[in-house]
Amino acid sequence: MALQSKIMNRAKSEGRTALTEVESKELLKQWGIPVVETRLARNKKEAISMSKEMGFPVVLKINSPDIVHKSDSGGVRLGLANATQVANAYSEIISSIKPKYPKAIIQGISVQRMAPLGIEVIIGMSKDPQFGPVIMFGLGGIMVEVLKDVSFRIVPVTQKDAQEMIKEIKGYPLLEGYRGQEPASIPALKELIVSVSQFAEQNPQIKELDLNPIFAYKDKAIAVDARIILEEG
Ligand code: ADP
Ligand code: MG
Repeated sequence: MALQSKIMNRAKSEGRTALTEVESKELLKQWGIPVVETRLARNKKEAISMSKEMGFPVVLKINSPDIVHKSDSGGVRLGLANATQVANAYSEIISSIKPKYPKAIIQGISVQRMAPLGIEVIIGMSKDPQFGPVIMFGLGGIMVEVLKDVSFRIVPVTQKDAQEMIKEIKGYPLLEGYRGQEPASIPALKELIVSVSQFAEQNPQIKELDLNPIFAYKDKAIAVDARIILEEG
């Protein structure tokens, strides 16, 4: 069933098509797609109390529909171990972002659980003028940015398609556990790809989706960053 969403209506009423990371993760979570615990703090005090509730270490990130590359602009702070570090990171993010994006709408700063390092993979959805929604899968970081090591399938993506998408990237041996590294759960990645395909298929108002990165572990996979763009109108 399609998402009946306050989040999408709010974006529409504000005349924007880009959802923030917090909004995007909320929609994905409603759809049953695993995302790292993420809450929106409106001020420093809230950020501190949220991080205490969540348990350290935490991550703080700028949350704005207008800022696409959060770390490039000093908007991401990882591995914050106590309340003082959270307070400092909060101020540093604001003072780094404000001069760079004087006009950006800042909804607040997200407080996230710091996920243990996993193998970074990405899943994306975009719309091809001819084929409609298309799902992309690849390894995160330089593997996708430099080597363009990705695979594509047209929605709806079946379990079998998903399996092929995972196996046909050149970096596949990394997912199997390279040189004693822990492997990534192929069943979890398969399920994630199929869920993203269903999400796209049943919510045609979504124009673009990026889960970048997802951390893959030996028994599960979880998105730590997400971005959704809605169709206009
Ligand atoms: P950007 O907007 O720059 O893509 P991200 O949210 O992807 O920002 O954060 C940058 C990097 O920080 C990610 O690629 C990931 O390695 C790390 N990261 C982000 N969120 C978390 C998290 N909750 N737990 C652990 N690492 C994270
Ligand atoms: Mg990212």
